[in-house]
Amino acid sequence: MFAYTYQCDRCNQTESYRSAIGYYRLSDGTDIPRCEQPAWCNDCNALRSAERLPDLQRLTEIVADLETTGLSEHDIENAKLMKQDVSDYLAESLFRSHALMRWRTARQSPPRCLDCESTNLLLLNPHIEQALDSFPHLDCNGTFHLSDTWHGSQASYQVLDAEGRHLHDDSSAEKRFRS
Ligand SMILES: [Zn+2]
Ligand SMILES: [Zn+2]
Repeated sequence: MFAYTYQCDRCNQTESYRSAIGYYRLSDGTDIPRCEQPAWCNDCNALRSAERLPDLQRLTEIVADLETTGLSEHDIENAKLMKQDVSDYLAESLFRSHALMRWRTARQSPPRCLDCESTNLLLLNPHIEQALDSFPHLDCNGTFHLSDTWHGSQASYQVLDAEGRHLHDDSSAEKRFRS
């Protein structure tokens, strides 16, 4: 789990954003990984972790690549590291990718706050590959700047239904997902 603390340069208020592993549990029992992003939740009136819904076009390309050219060099290395048979790894990747696409196609709700499930959010960081450095504090016209980062272990894994509503915390989800 990674955490980022931000402090406002005008009113000194601090807010933190935690990035943690979580899953969606689909109605057929399949678990798929959940992505997230920092957002200002207007209902919590706080910086929160919100769902990041993957781009359907990008998912379609990933599945097409897997189906036509198979695993990338990187995936093959991964399979070897995990001592998994390469063809099993490919089958598993295809299964997960198809499940992700089915879920993403059927998903109705926009991203939700991972705390209160609200969709009344201001999404702050469109760039999945880089951390958020700063964002405006609308209450005071100041700017929050990144002031601290840290990471710790994660005791439980949040499980959401397909529409991003809390099911329950399940510490065995990670194990099941990896096995
Ligand atoms: Zn402020
Ligand atoms: Zn919220």
